[in-house]
Parts: sequence; structure tokens; C-alpha cells
Amino acid sequence: MQTNYIFVTGGVASSLGKGITTASLAAILEARNLKVTIMKLDPYINIDPGTISPMQHGEVFVTEDGAETDLDLGHYERFIRTKMSKYNNLTSGQIYSEVLRKERRGDYLGATVQVIPHITNAIKERIIKCAKGYDIILVEIGGTVGDIESLPFLEAIRQMAVDLSRRHTMYIHLTLVPYIAAAREFKTKPTQHSVKELLSIGIQPDVLICRSNQAVSINTRAKIASFCNILDKAVISLIDVNPIYNILFLLESQNLDKYICQYFKLQVPLANLSEWKKIVDTEAKPIDKVTIGMVGKYVELPDAYKSVIEALQHGGLKNRITVNIKFIDSREIERKGVELLKSLAGILVPGGFGSSGIEGTLISTKYARENKIPYLGICLGMQIALIEYARNVAGIKNADSTEFSPDCKYPLVVLTSSHILNEDKKQYHNETYLGGTMRLGSQQCKLIPNSLVRKIYNTDIIFERHRHRYEVNNFLLKPIEEAGMRIVGRSNNRLVEIIEISDHPWFIGCQFHPEFNSTPRYGHPLFTAFIKAAHEYQKNSQKSFT
Ligand code: GLN
Repeated sequence: MQTNYIFVTGGVASSLGKGITTASLAAILEARNLKVTIMKLDPYINIDPGTISPMQHGEVFVTEDGAETDLDLGHYERFIRTKMSKYNNLTSGQIYSEVLRKERRGDYLGATVQVIPHITNAIKERIIKCAKGYDIILVEIGGTVGDIESLPFLEAIRQMAVDLSRRHTMYIHLTLVPYIAAAREFKTKPTQHSVKELLSIGIQPDVLICRSNQAVSINTRAKIASFCNILDKAVISLIDVNPIYNILFLLESQNLDKYICQYFKLQVPLANLSEWKKIVDTEAKPIDKVTIGMVGKYVELPDAYKSVIEALQHGGLKNRITVNIKFIDSREIERKGVELLKSLAGILVPGGFGSSGIEGTLISTKYARENKIPYLGICLGMQIALIEYARNVAGIKNADSTEFSPDCKYPLVVLTSSHILNEDKKQYHNETYLGGTMRLGSQQCKLIPNSLVRKIYNTDIIFERHRHRYEVNNFLLKPIEEAGMRIVGRSNNRLVEIIEISDHPWFIGCQFHPEFNSTPRYGHPLFTAFIKAAHEYQKNSQKSFT
């Protein structure tokens, strides 16, 4: 089958949920037996978001093949079965660096190198490469129509309708249709302007998805259709829903998937959304609730922990338990003490970089350990758990990570060159280059028998994704193991991947990021077990819980 291209642009305002909407539509098409993938085009000049502060950009989602990508790729993997790769996230930075490399090599044979055709051609090549082998590719263009920086992407997708035939290309535009309560009216003008902007660069949208806080009336939709030159049935109303999986049902009930299949002339069965229905039903009827404290330093922008938040919710779904997350700034713990940790059913210390807020995570980890509160430490959280144990149980007061204390006397967590280690990619840590130089992507880990994690995963070998620069120092571990900390998972080259404490009901730290492998349909063993343990702790404890 020839690949069909659906381009998704956004208008009027940002943060309308373009990523979730694109992923939801892809899930419906996948449920119609189509082979679907999704690509994100990001207009910024960074090669990837790996070097952007989490406070600016939110989480960096890591693919199996070790690419540092936009957090929307996390939505894509949570909604469809296709795994994302380094080809699924394209930035202007990647395009420009590729074109400039070719220019220096003389590939353009004396031509003047220009945005059109050289940059646009490079964009089109990357989209076609990513689409290979799929029935449908949805291509989400980051930013909002009208942004100067996304113009080359829009020009490239405009050209694709000419190159590939209009019949195999579809343009979906997501806009905001505000409801003005005082006038009791929906306002269509911003949408009209946004479509006009698209038309001025030669793109006529085929579908409009209108975000609003209440269902857009039929009359308003008909008005939008007529002003924007679109069929009535292709103007879709999308209200705010909770849980987000309801978006699938909103789109399907308005026959968007049917319209798309007719447009591309695809003879496929109706969408089987039973798995998604089950998720929505489970979420609606919880048996109980727990509150998990997440102690980190990027808590002001929860998007910085997007996949961890989602994975906790999936863990809740698997146990039929509503998970409330209390975001706690680790620096607040330093100021106010453990009072903030009272009445939590579980404590999670997620990934992080740099030395600020470390003391607060150490205090929280000690509190979880001493009070037998279920604890999950992810990446930095595992390193912290080890340092805390070394200092307070094994009595090694100066144990530390060289990340926070470069000259420390007992460097338990260090920058090694032995991990370097993305052997297949031949990437080497280099002090002067920060981008793409960490230990990245999916790697194998061997679990040891008679451990809690072996029981949780119910298998000996697991594959999980990494994103970190520092590793546990195997040479200094002995006294810490003797004091009772267990190393229960190691990589092929013997790096510490998982730790446990035997005299604690549920205390696990992992060097990898399990959240990247969690999906609403399947959950993730670690998160499912963590929520279960938190619920048990809550049931058996005399404390009062929030
Ligand atoms: N800063 C730590 C390291 O680089 C942990 C990274 C993380 O939590 N992702 O090893």
C-alpha cells in the first residue's frame, strides 16, 4: 500500500494538546488494522532537546535506539504500538547541520544553498524515510501557524501534496474556538484567521479540530466549515476531557477515522477500541486512592516528569487505584524538613542533574528507608539511595557523587569512561560536547534470583532505557553491600542497574528510566508493584493519609 500522509498543524494558541490529539487519532487508525507511525517536527535550532533545560522544554523522552527527543514522542509510544526511533523527531537544527555538512563536502556542486529547495528537500527526505513501510504517517508540526521559524516545515509539507499527489496527503488543523460566556457565543474569528494564514502559504486544511471548553454547536461548525472551505463533517469538536483517553472516543464518535479512511480510499475494518474502553472504565471505578510524593527540583513544571507521572497513573490503573501525586520541591525539604513527607503512601525520587536540591532528596530517601515507606528511586534517585545508605547505614560519611562533589574522598558515583559506551553508536564522552554523549537508550540488564525485582519482572533479563552520565563505582561497593544493600541487577558490563534493601518491604532504585516503557494498556511491572506496595502500606499503617 502506498503510504498516506496526515500533517497536523496548530493554530490560534499553543498548548492545545496537539501531541495527545495526534497520538489519539493514530491509536484509532491503528485500531482499524492500519500500520501507523507518527513523527514530530520541531522548529528550534537545537539538534535535539537533550541540551535544553527541563524547566524550558519539559521532559526529554529517550527512544530505544538512544535518541533524546521531544516529550510528544512519549505520548506517541503510549498510544500506539509502533516504537519511536531517532527518525521520528526532526528539528531545524538537524536539518541545518546536515545541509551545512553537505555544503562543506561540496555535494551541492557550486549551487547557492537556499532554504528552498535545499532545506525543504532535506525535510521532505527525512519525512519520507520515516514513513517507509507504514500505511499512514501522522506528522505533527511543532509550534503555531504564523511562527517565522516553522515556515520551512510548512513549505515542505505543502510541496509534499504536489510531489506525492493530493490524494495521499491530508492536512489537519487544530485550533481554539473560544466560548464567550457574556455573549453566549462561540467565536470563530480566530480560527478563520488561522486558516487564512495557512492558505497564504498554500495549504488548504481538510479537517479542522476545534478545541473549546464546551461542545461546539452544529451551527458554529457549519459556519466554520463554510468560511474555511471544509466539509461540515470534517469540522470536529474537541472538548476538555478527563481522562485523556476519552479523546479517542470523542474523535471516533464524530467519524473522523471514517472520513480519513474514505479520503484515502482505505478498505479497513471499523476501529476496535475495546482495550481503550477498558482503560476508561477502570479509571472511572477505582477501589481506593493513594498519594505518592515526588521529590525533585523541576516540580514547578510537571511536564519535566511527564513519563513518570503517566507511568504512576498506569500503575494506578493496573491496581484500580487513583494515584494523586504530590509534587515536592527537594529544596523545600531542605528548608522545612520532613513535615512535607507526612501522610504519603509512597515516595519517588526521579531523575535530575546538578547539585542543587540534592540534600532534600537525601533527607527524603532516609525518611522513606527509616519509616519503611515504599520508595522508588529513578536514575538520580538510585544514586541518592546508595549515597544515603553508605553515609547513614554503612557509616561512610564522605560517600558522594563526583557530580555534586568533584573532589570527594569516597566517590561512590563517578564519571567513568568504561560505560561509554553506546558501543553500537561509537559515541564517546567528551567534556566539550554535552549533546548525545550520555549513556543512552535501551540496554540489557540481568536480574539476580531471590530478589524483589526478579519477582516483580518475572523474568531474568530485562531491557530498559538509560539517560545518565554517572555510574556506581563498583570498587567502593563492598562495605555498602555488607551493610545490607543488595545489587540485584547488573548490565552486561557489570554496571550497577538496580538496588534493593532487604529489611525494607519495598525499596528499589534503578539506574535506568522505567517510565519510558510504561503504557496505559500494559503498565510497567515496577510502577504497578510500587503502587500496590504503597496501597498495602497505607492499609496496614495507623497513620492518616491524604
Ligand atoms: N545526574 C545523574 C547522571 O548524570 C542522573 C541522571 C538522571 O537522573 N537522568 O548520572
